[in-house]
Amino acid sequence: MKIPMSSPDLTAAEIAAVNEVLHSNYLSIGPKIVQFEEAIAAYCGVRHAIGVNSGTSGLHLAVIAAEIGEGDEVITPSFSFIASANAVVYERARPVFVDINPQTGNLDPQLIEAAITPRTRAIMPVHAFGQPADMDPIMEIARRHKLYIIEDACEAIGAEYKGQRAGTFGDAAVFAFYPNKQMTTGEGGMIITNNEDLPRFSAVCAIRGAMSLMRG
Ligand SMILES: *Cc1c(COP(=O)(O)O)cnc(C)c1O
Repeated sequence: MKIPMSSPDLTAAEIAAVNEVLHSNYLSIGPKIVQFEEAIAAYCGVRHAIGVNSGTSGLHLAVIAAEIGEGDEVITPSFSFIASANAVVYERARPVFVDINPQTGNLDPQLIEAAITPRTRAIMPVHAFGQPADMDPIMEIARRHKLYIIEDACEAIGAEYKGQRAGTFGDAAVFAFYPNKQMTTGEGGMIITNNEDLPRFSAVCAIRGAMSLMRG
């Protein structure tokens, strides 16, 4: 018997929903994206959900929103999909890899502080395969060193750590909807945040605002 690591779970309801969109005038940036953003924000109990075309784009925008750039360092686990590190490299910042705890597949909090330098700006924990990272010590280290937390929650929508949803701990988090995730839109992603004080958060919102204007 072959058990797939992941496979899309699509029923007649999803096919009918896609058909409904195909019969509308909105094949992109239509009302469904707003409904989806509102549903995700409500589900996670956060103020903002911003739909994007992929998890990678979401992570990239979160790095931009935190104004992370050339010369900055972001701590992220050595075991992840390449998008976590790429989002940092796209802004000419440097991913600094920290090893995982082999029991969980997630960032080992005990190894984080040794990797912090004066150039460290953020920690990007990854919630691997739906298993949340050990957020209590990660948050404590981030607070003490005044670092942003960008959660790569691309594989973890619906997961909980001590009763709290993965993605709601840090300054921003990203879910992804590629077919190997818990929930798929074919391709897609969603940034969630409660932190309007991220330096370039308004720029990210302006991008979404411009898209809403186009939608009319
Ligand atoms: C899927 C995934 C992403 C984003 O992938 P996209 O294909 O760009 O949606 C980012 N990080 C991790 C850990 C992932 O599994």
